[in-house]
Amino acid sequence: AHLNETSARPHGTRRERNAPMTNDTEKSLILVAGGAGFIGSHLCAELLDRGEQVVCLDNLQTSNLSNLRGLEGRPGFEFVRGDIVDELPATILERAHRFKQIYNLACAASPPQYQVDPEHTMLTNVVGTDRLLRLASEAGARFLLTSTSEVYGDPEMHPQREDYRGWVSCTGPRACYDEGKRAAEALTYDFCRSGRAEVRVARIFNTYGPHMHFDDGRVVSNLIVQALSGKPLTLYGDGSQTRSFCYVSDLVRGLRLLMNSDITGMEPINLGNPHEITVEALAEAVAVFTGSNVAIAYHPLPTDDPRRRKPDIARARALLGWEPRVPLAEGLERTCTWFAQAMNVPLPQTTS
Ligand code: UDP
Repeated sequence: AHLNETSARPHGTRRERNAPMTNDTEKSLILVAGGAGFIGSHLCAELLDRGEQVVCLDNLQTSNLSNLRGLEGRPGFEFVRGDIVDELPATILERAHRFKQIYNLACAASPPQYQVDPEHTMLTNVVGTDRLLRLASEAGARFLLTSTSEVYGDPEMHPQREDYRGWVSCTGPRACYDEGKRAAEALTYDFCRSGRAEVRVARIFNTYGPHMHFDDGRVVSNLIVQALSGKPLTLYGDGSQTRSFCYVSDLVRGLRLLMNSDITGMEPINLGNPHEITVEALAEAVAVFTGSNVAIAYHPLPTDDPRRRKPDIARARALLGWEPRVPLAEGLERTCTWFAQAMNVPLPQTTS
């Protein structure tokens, strides 16, 4: 669903209905592209809580307006529907000078979702990032790209440090996303190198928490939804591959710290939780928190599925003073509770 400027206009008119946020010359707005998504919606809420004025731009491709429940109507919040592959909505372009920061979180991020329309995924990362960088350049706004641990591909270095260049297939089914993000990083640093924009790049590792899409196909949401519905837990391969899961509040804090830091060089920063576990162990933990005693169903391992993934976060620790605070057990319990409420199913007494 590529949304054009016309479809952006009816939503843009909310600006006229709402009271103006500030006077027309004040440089006070923060743009969050992809702000209705899983991480974006938490970032918008956090920024609003800190008194910022937030314009959320989203095409609602894999995101959901229900993620913004509680934000719409709050002073300082505005939702604009639009796709960054298309021309940016007029309501944003005409206020370019008012933006002080631009976060780019706009892209489907779950493998089955970003592979539905690979061309659109690639263009979102390249054309969409270019449009937002041009806006940042015109606005004199600081730009933050959310890149991904997928730039490391199926890594030969473990844990992954930012200076590792990756082991990525440019012809595989994940290329639209991982090569797209690599191109987006290249573009972002070209704008930096030529002095056109002040930039930050976060490489986000697996993240979980409330607002994950029920059927976006990622392992945490899949396992929780399956366990709560009494369905077998799907393990791809033998479940011995590893990931490291970061709770969303930790991640959002890292993004904000990075945006507001004075890191000026071309240094991407890993943001993720270094606690590494096998997918099988994750399934066991989910079964504990949901109190379910369901079977395991083994499926083939998807093509190019990385064997291991764990961030080296020494750079984030040193430069941002950041590290995750929420342990997996606590984050999983909160996430299971949120899914149970959203699905209207009870959790067992032991976890509620
Ligand atoms: N996976 C799984 N069962 C599922 C979904 C995913 O075993 O229902 C595996 C997947 O093959 C991968 C890991 O869990 O090894 C994490 O997958 P996800 O799609 O969440 O993110 P990725 O890290 O691959 O981008």
